[in-house]
Amino acid sequence: MQRATHISVYNTLTRRKEDFSPVEPGRVKMYTCGPTVYRYAHIGNLRSYLMADWLRRLLEAQGYRVKHVKNITDVGHMRQDMVERGEDKVIAAALAEGRTPEQIAAHYTEAFMADEAKLNILPAHEFPRATTNVPEMVDLTRTLVDRGYAYAVGGNVYFEVGRFSEYGKLSRQQSAGLEEGVRVEADPLKRDQRDFALWKAAEQGRMLKWPSPWGDGFPGWHIECSAMAAKYLGPEIDLHTGGVDNVFPHHEDEIAQSEAAFGRRHVRYWMHGQHLLVDGLKMAKSTGNTYEIGDLEKRGFEPLAFRYLCATASYRARLNFTMRSLRAAQKGLLRLREKLSADGGRATKKGTKEGERLRGEFWRAVADDLSLPRALAVAWRVARSRLPGAVKRELLMDFDRVLGLELVAPRPSASAILVEAEAIAHERSELRRRKAYTEADSIRERIRGMGYEVRDAKGKTALVPVPVWAKAEASISSSGDVDSHLSEPDSVGFTIGVVARRGCEELERCLTSLLQWAGGVTAELVVIDNGLEEACAGRLDGLAAKDARVRVFHADHFLGSAAGLNVVLKQARGRYVVTLDTSVEVEGDIFTPLRELLEDSRVGIAGRWGVTSEDLRSFEEAEDSGDVDAVEGYLTAFRRDLVNETGLLDEKYRFYRHLDLDFSLAARTLGYRLVINTGLPVVRHEHLEWAATPEEERDRLSKRNFYRFLRKWGERSDLLVVQAR
Ligand code: AMP
Ligand code: ZN
Repeated sequence: MQRATHISVYNTLTRRKEDFSPVEPGRVKMYTCGPTVYRYAHIGNLRSYLMADWLRRLLEAQGYRVKHVKNITDVGHMRQDMVERGEDKVIAAALAEGRTPEQIAAHYTEAFMADEAKLNILPAHEFPRATTNVPEMVDLTRTLVDRGYAYAVGGNVYFEVGRFSEYGKLSRQQSAGLEEGVRVEADPLKRDQRDFALWKAAEQGRMLKWPSPWGDGFPGWHIECSAMAAKYLGPEIDLHTGGVDNVFPHHEDEIAQSEAAFGRRHVRYWMHGQHLLVDGLKMAKSTGNTYEIGDLEKRGFEPLAFRYLCATASYRARLNFTMRSLRAAQKGLLRLREKLSADGGRATKKGTKEGERLRGEFWRAVADDLSLPRALAVAWRVARSRLPGAVKRELLMDFDRVLGLELVAPRPSASAILVEAEAIAHERSELRRRKAYTEADSIRERIRGMGYEVRDAKGKTALVPVPVWAKAEASISSSGDVDSHLSEPDSVGFTIGVVARRGCEELERCLTSLLQWAGGVTAELVVIDNGLEEACAGRLDGLAAKDARVRVFHADHFLGSAAGLNVVLKQARGRYVVTLDTSVEVEGDIFTPLRELLEDSRVGIAGRWGVTSEDLRSFEEAEDSGDVDAVEGYLTAFRRDLVNETGLLDEKYRFYRHLDLDFSLAARTLGYRLVINTGLPVVRHEHLEWAATPEEERDRLSKRNFYRFLRKWGERSDLLVVQAR
C-alpha cells in the first residue's frame, strides 16, 4: 500500500534532517555494515541492526522496493588498526578454539542469523562474505593505484589520504584522536600517517591469504565494504547504516575509496545508530559489560522485549541498558498484547474515522527520522482507546509491520524450553509413581530453574510459567537503584561494607571473621552481591536471615567495582565506614584502633595497607605504620561524613585497580592525612578476582584504570607528602 507520508532522515554527512528521496524513484539501495564473525553478537551490536531493520520496514511499508545488503566480515580484522598490525580476530579465535577459520566464521554467522531472527530483524537480501569477494577488492585496489590515489610498498598498498581533497567530510576528522593514551606506532612504509592500508602482505604462515599483483596478502576492512557495496548495489547507494563508532575511520575511508575509484558520490544518506551503554559505558567485549540474546533468554525474557526496549528511545540517543528497563519493556509488551486480545466489538463508522486519524499519526512519527517512542505512544493510545476491538487489531497489525513486535499474534514464547520442561516433568511423574520422592523433588527444582512451577492437581501435572525476570524484581541494576542515607544522622557505630564478585568460601571467611570481631561495637554489615553465582547468593540470604546486622543487596549483573562500593556508601548509616576486600580475614578487634585513628579529625582515611609514590606513576608498598600517599582498598576506614566532601566514587572504575588511589587523592585534596596501622589484626589471603583474571585481561583492565587515574591526578605530585617527611 503506497502512503503519502514523506520520509525524513538525519544525514550524518550534512548533520541535518533531510527529506528522503532515492536515486531511482520507488527503489532503495541500502547497505548495512554487518558483523565480524569470530564471536557472538552482543545486544549493543544488535541495537544497530534493529535501527536498520526499522528503516527498511518503514521504506517497504511506504511502498518502496528495497534491496538490503549486509556484509559478513569473515576476515577477522574488526578494526582497521588490526589490519595495520596484521591481526586477525577470526584466525585468533580459530587458534584458540582449535578450529579452522572457516569453521569459526560459519559457526558465528549462523548464530548471528539466529539472533537476528529472534529479534524479528528481516534478513537482508544479500549477506556477502568478505572471503568470497576478495578478487573484487583486489580490482578496486588496483583501480585506486592506477588512478593515483594509492601506492604499493613492500607488498602493502596504502590509500594516500592527501590525494583525496574531500577527506574528512563525513566525520570532520582527519585522524584518530589519542584515545585513552593508546598510541599506534608509526608505520615507516606510509607516506603520511593518515594513509590507511587497502592491502597488506601476508606474514609467514598466515592462515587466511589471497594472491594479488603485490604478492600474497589480505584486504583491509574498509575496502571490503566499498567493493561489496559496489558489486551488489552499484557505485551509488541511497542509504548506508552503521553504529556511530563506524563514522571514523571506517565510513570516512569507505567514502574516500569509493568516490576516488568511481568518480561519483558514494552514498546519499548516512545514518548512524547511537550506542547501547551498560552502567554508563559503551557495551563492548573489551569493557566486559556485554549481554547476548541468550543471556536475556536465560533470565526468561523474550528477545522481543529487547526490541521493544530499543523502540522506547530514539536511535540517535544513547540508551543505557539495565535489567530493570528490560523488565519494564517486557511488561509493557505483554500488557500491550493483552489489551488487544481482550477487546471485542466490531468496526463502526465513527471508530474507523478516529482510527484513520491515529494511523496517520503513527506513520508520520515513524517517517520522521524513525521517531519510534512517539509511534509507540500512538500504539498505546490505540490499545487504550474506546475503539472497537476489530479496529484496534487492524491498526496494530498495520503498525506492527514496522514495529515487528508480534503485537497481535505472538509466536508461543520460549516454546523450546517448555517442550524440554514438559519432558522432564514427565520423568518426574514416573519417579513419583515409583515413589522416588527425593529424586522427583530435585526435578521440581530443575524445572523451576527453567522458569516453570510444577502444579499437581487431581492426578495431573501442569506447568505454570514463572518468568525469571519477574522473580528478579528485588535485585538492583545500578547504584542509582538504592536510596542514599548520606545526609541522614548516624544510627550505628560502624558500617562494614563488603563487595563480592566471586568466591563463596573466601567471602564467607571474610564475613564470619568480621561478625565475630564486631561484637564489641554497634555495627551493620552491608554486603553487595556483585554478580555472584546463584548458590552463593542464596547462602548470603541465609546469613542475613540469621543475623540482623547483615543486609544483602543483589546486583543483577556485575555493576563494576566502584558502583558496588557506592551502594555501600549510599546505604551506610554508621559513624564510621570500614570497607574490606573479600581476601581479608579479621583476627582480632580492628574497630577500636581504627576508631582511634579516625578520632583525629585531620585523618581522612585509615587502613592496614598503603603505598607511597614520588610521581603518581609507580607506587611502593609502605612498610611502617604512619602516613602514606594512598590507603589500599583491601581495608579502608573513614568517617562516613567524608563521602559528603569527596562525593561518591567514580563509577568508570569498573576494575578495582587504582580506584582506592583515586579515593585517597580525593581526600588528600581536601587536606586530610592518610594513615595506616600495620599492627591491625588482619591477614590478606590470595586475591581471587586478581587470580581469576587472565594475565592479558589484567594488563588491559589495569592499564585502562591507570590512564583514567593518570589523566585526573598525573600532575598532582604536590599531594604526595610521605617522601618529604
Ligand atoms: P562489530 O561486529 O564490532 O564490527 O560491530 C557491529 C556493529 O555494531 C557496528 O555497526 C558497530 O557500530 C555496532 N556496535 C558496536 N558496539 C555497539 C554498542 N555498544 N551499541 C550499539 N552499536 C554497537
Ligand atoms: Zn562497513
